[in-house]
Amino acid sequence: MKILQSLLIVLLIASCNNAAPVEKPVVTKDETHKYPVSMVDNKKDFSCGMPVSAGIGDTAHYKGKVYGFCSTECKDAFLEKPDSFLQANK
Ligand SMILES: [Zn+2]
Repeated sequence: MKILQSLLIVLLIASCNNAAPVEKPVVTKDETHKYPVSMVDNKKDFSCGMPVSAGIGDTAHYKGKVYGFCSTECKDAFLEKPDSFLQANK
């Protein structure tokens, strides 16, 4: 009787392992290249000085121009005092 019991357990475990793992679809999120460099008016991220060609994570519209930034943090820093950033980057 004990043998039958352990056999049952083995079968249960085996049937569990037979369940194919559900593979999640791989979504490649290319966050850094969602904005083309040609659409922004600045060559460098004003906040950190990184060239926008390295990848634009976020953009800001200011006085009719579009500025690209590597991240939302850099954009937010720019938007806090955009004029002083523009002055410093003339
Ligand atoms: Zn930056």
